[in-house]
Amino acid sequence: MQNFLPILQLPEETEPQSAPRDKLGGLPWGLRSDMWPVCTQCGGSQSLLAQFVHDPVRLDLGRTGRVLNVFQCNHDPGMCENWQGGAGGNACFVVEPEDLLRGLSEQPGDDPEIEFEAFVAEWETHDDGLSSEDARLFFPSDVQPGNADPTGPSMTDFDPTSSTRLGGVPFWIQSPHEAPQGGWTFVGQLDNTISFRRAPTVDHPDVEPDRSRWEGRTHTAIGPNFGDNGVGYIFLKHGGPLPQGWFFWQCA
Ligand SMILES: [Zn+2]
Repeated sequence: MQNFLPILQLPEETEPQSAPRDKLGGLPWGLRSDMWPVCTQCGGSQSLLAQFVHDPVRLDLGRTGRVLNVFQCNHDPGMCENWQGGAGGNACFVVEPEDLLRGLSEQPGDDPEIEFEAFVAEWETHDDGLSSEDARLFFPSDVQPGNADPTGPSMTDFDPTSSTRLGGVPFWIQSPHEAPQGGWTFVGQLDNTISFRRAPTVDHPDVEPDRSRWEGRTHTAIGPNFGDNGVGYIFLKHGGPLPQGWFFWQCA
């Protein structure tokens, strides 16, 4: 199966944003104030984790120009249940291009934390070596018990990357049974570390070299708060007028 790793760049390395773009953190593009998600637990405005634009291969949102938005509440870390899908402490939704304003969204009055911002300069295509049959092992609740082959491969025979990407299979930290049930498709994941695979060309106080060169990255920055070394998982369900989104995270 193919997966897609982002080559990131700092906002200082690119033109000011003038259209929807694949990005992590920062201010969302194009959301009206009534579209900015509010935490149902504390009532605060949530923080943008990522915006990704429809792409027929990388991220199928069903229509050109649609944008996937992922948010979580950062007002009261550890209190609002921002790790749970559907609990109101995070949000994952798709917006039609006609509903997007032409500009960055205005920061809400309650000043939600703005996550470290990085733009995707390009996507690197990788093959994880899994067949679509192998990929089902990562969603055990989708596999009928009678159909499981006890002599066949298991999830632990594969080693998906934990880094931020679109496509492939999830790097589960806890139980795969936390995946949403019934027609949902895994479309990507967010790491709590921002990984630069190409060295930034400008200095940034929050960007540090990664001497271990893990997965070929050169620099890192602190990304979203997903607990201890957490990873967030993005699922979509097609079928309605707009695909539905589902987000949750797990940590060590
Ligand atoms: Zn909250």
